[in-house]
Amino acid sequence: MSYEPIIKGNVKEFSVKPNLLNYEEARESFSWDDIYKELDGLEGGGLNIAYEAIDRHAKTSLREKVALYWEGKDGNSEQYTFRDLYILTNRFANVLQSLGIKKGDRVFTYTDRTPEIFVAILGTLKAGAVVGPLFSAFGPDAVKDRLQDSGARVLITTPGLVTTVHEIAGELPALEKIIIVNRRKTSYELSENEVSYERLMESASEEFEIVKTEKEDKAIMHYTSGTTGKPKGAVHVHQAVMGHYATAKYVLDLHPDDIYFCTADPGWVTGTSYGIFGPWSNGISQVVYEGGFSASHWYSVIEKYQVTVWYTAPTAIRMLMKAGEKVIGKYNLKSLRYMCSVGEPLNPEAVVWSVEAFGLPFHDNWWQTETGCIQIANYPLQDIRPGSMGRPFPGVTAAILDEDCKHELPPGEEGNLALKSGWPSMFRIYWNKKELYDSKFINGWYITGDRARKDEDGYFWFVGRADDVINTAGHLVGPFEVESALIEHPAVAEAGVIGIPDKLAMEVIKAFISLKDGYEVSDELVMEIKRFARKKLHAVACPKEIEILDSLPKTRSGKIMRRLLKARELGLSEGDTSTLED
Ligand code: ATP
Ligand code: MG
Repeated sequence: MSYEPIIKGNVKEFSVKPNLLNYEEARESFSWDDIYKELDGLEGGGLNIAYEAIDRHAKTSLREKVALYWEGKDGNSEQYTFRDLYILTNRFANVLQSLGIKKGDRVFTYTDRTPEIFVAILGTLKAGAVVGPLFSAFGPDAVKDRLQDSGARVLITTPGLVTTVHEIAGELPALEKIIIVNRRKTSYELSENEVSYERLMESASEEFEIVKTEKEDKAIMHYTSGTTGKPKGAVHVHQAVMGHYATAKYVLDLHPDDIYFCTADPGWVTGTSYGIFGPWSNGISQVVYEGGFSASHWYSVIEKYQVTVWYTAPTAIRMLMKAGEKVIGKYNLKSLRYMCSVGEPLNPEAVVWSVEAFGLPFHDNWWQTETGCIQIANYPLQDIRPGSMGRPFPGVTAAILDEDCKHELPPGEEGNLALKSGWPSMFRIYWNKKELYDSKFINGWYITGDRARKDEDGYFWFVGRADDVINTAGHLVGPFEVESALIEHPAVAEAGVIGIPDKLAMEVIKAFISLKDGYEVSDELVMEIKRFARKKLHAVACPKEIEILDSLPKTRSGKIMRRLLKARELGLSEGDTSTLED
């Protein structure tokens, strides 16, 4: 797959090492030890993510710098400096200790995207406990599965969401206390095992000595997105902050005067690694918007706060494309200087569109809940090959392995994407699933479950998840290639491609698409899109069938759930749908 044009990075000069103007040199000069030295560490030894994100700035001239600009969905806004967050997180750590929380205990959050979630996550880390953020749109089964599996002792939630927890209360023997955050002061009567966040915070001390944590102590657990099956609880340790810090600096290109906007919810790993730890360990001001996707709200946030660096996801970008350039014209977005994307393959069409629409390309990068931080990326000062995930982060070794995961494949050949284990933010275990965890490591490689290929220059190209790759007439076809071709058609907003069983070809390709506004479903349109695909794709990769849906099933983190499209098509069980969007 080769896509033109090649787009130049358009960002500030790098004044720091590694100098990514020269990728090879950057790889050679990079060392995780150097990154470690840029962090402070705890007084008297040890490492704690919350200390690196907040306390160390609260002790310097950055103390009065705004860390969080919070924009509520009702139009209200709040600001918190690093010093404010230092005090609030100290108070929260004291609250947890007063409830008997000890090092290693699990404390989960299940709240809206309000400032308290940041306080709770960081305060939990200060108390030495393991934090598990849950997405607020989860229903009772999703919440129950995760609280049961993790054995969480404390849950932080709101009057609006606690009714969901009440439905499952009898099935959570480990859960001792529920902290209710009532920022909108709705009338709510606390039940026996519930306590008020506001009341406890008011009486808690501003002073707190961080519970001593070491590099390898467990810090945060995130359940994966559930795109391919039942979500797994990937556990990360405190030294993961080295990865958050380094990649936020070198991939997201965060500089001291930036205003950064990450659209991910802290219920997903992107919302913590890059919505909390990455930017704040670099002392950067960030904007958080309480609401979900909305082209006009997002643009107005960018305009109001003069956002310079923006990190979002392909589904959102496709929705922005669908909303069109007219909306963009209503806002002044000139402050933007750098944009990144993660979570799904970023179709080349989306990169080309972003240059037309914003005058800037989205820089795709690849990582997983398990990897903790960005592993493969398009860097600021390098050319982008639209459709490619870029090259491995210095300090990370990636390879394409053969079917047995024993040998590296040469450039151009498709195989299993693997990472040499040992980067600091690598997950240390799937909670309660040791065997599954062990099965992901072969000969010192972590097998990611994704298929990809590498080109002669070391750029990686995503093919598909191993489970999604289609075997048709003896050829392996990745859904991404077909989907990318389909969405180049002006009528197609999004596409999800699966293989369906076929007596002759083993599998044939079926595409599900949704249309952009203004297009009507018709047989002619389907025929035209098929003709269009035929011009773009190799004959074996052309969809035999195209079905138009109002929208495609997606996870709440915005990923197309091809396994659901397949299960529905074949009348099979839908499996775990706890992360399915409404
Ligand atoms: P589950 O593991 O529960 O099925 P998931 O894999 O979607 O869910 P995440 O850890 O949130 O859970 O997502 C990581 C996956 O998302 C990657 O393995 C890859 O398949 C996909 N992904 C992320 N970023 C990119 C990217 N830039 N290009 C292509 N795919 C990406
Ligand atoms: Mg996964």
